[in-house]
Amino acid sequence: MRQKRRINGSWLLQPGDVIFLLAGALAHAGVETGHAVLVVHGGEADMLSGVPAERYREGMRRALEAGYRALKHGSSLDAVEAAVRVLEDSEWFNAGRGAVFTHEGRNEMDAAIMEGTHKHAGAVASVTTIKNPISAARLVMEKSPHVLLAGIGAEQFIARTLSESSDTDLRKKVKLVDPHYFWTEGRWEELQQEWKKQASKGHAALDGKKHHLGTVGAVAVKDGKVAAATSTGGMTNKLSGRIGDSPIIGAGTYADDKACAVSATGWGEYFIENVVGHDIAARIQYGHASLEKALDSIIDIELQNDGAEGGAIAITPKGEFAIAFNRLAQQMSRGYVTADGKISIAITEEKLPPPK
Ligand code: ASP
Repeated sequence: MRQKRRINGSWLLQPGDVIFLLAGALAHAGVETGHAVLVVHGGEADMLSGVPAERYREGMRRALEAGYRALKHGSSLDAVEAAVRVLEDSEWFNAGRGAVFTHEGRNEMDAAIMEGTHKHAGAVASVTTIKNPISAARLVMEKSPHVLLAGIGAEQFIARTLSESSDTDLRKKVKLVDPHYFWTEGRWEELQQEWKKQASKGHAALDGKKHHLGTVGAVAVKDGKVAAATSTGGMTNKLSGRIGDSPIIGAGTYADDKACAVSATGWGEYFIENVVGHDIAARIQYGHASLEKALDSIIDIELQNDGAEGGAIAITPKGEFAIAFNRLAQQMSRGYVTADGKISIAITEEKLPPPK
């Protein structure tokens, strides 16, 4: 069972937390702010072992370039979808190819997309055969009467929509693949490590700490209209059928032109219980908090105090952005592009340099 690890409140501090807090205090970047049209993240926590940092930097750059191109010719919704698709296609991030494994050795993916003008959203959860779950989420939003479809029902809906459509671009964009497409050695190795740890503990508890690597997300704005997208394989060793915060509207993904668009990463159960995406927007809309203060309060203070590592990116209709990850998370891949196309990227605990 999941146990809350409250740090500053009444819960006991565990020895590991002390190390985390000390390391985190050194590495913590605070809330990073600026102006941009598109911001992306490649998840909190470490990189896959042995994979050069350059791979992550390159993934971020390609996602920002694709999103920026889409933004020029289309909407903020097009931009977040395009950016996330690039990261889903890269095996180094925990989304699409490269998704982590469930305890049972499957890849079950979650994704959501939302636009802030009409507050329309679409999401898929626990899907196993959709190459780009974020585009499936957009199809749910645009072609179904629902917001969230899960598992086999989501896959059947996508297959039916594709077979009934004469749109060749759509067929190119949304593809069904064999589940083996998502298998990658690094993620399989991570699961083996978890199995070993569990065997030595004698129980199957998912403690969450550092079991989530590289969820991806994007937020964008165009003409005052914001959008958000998030895609993930969830947490290594999760039980089959577990759904995290990413496809839950208001938790890991949220957009409202009256406040901001948010994409989160971290220990999903806490993000659901704290309704993090909506909480950030509500602090701005009703509490008149600044974007920076809103992210700081929930990510750096409340989730941190609950013992939940995580981070979020957010953007307002005016193009102010904020990026935060707490001391327990310690690091997050992230980047942004300004209106004139200048890109800035930071990997892990690096500070975001000024745009190039
Ligand atoms: N939030 C994701 C989940 O819990 C994991 C992550 O962000 O890395 O499913």
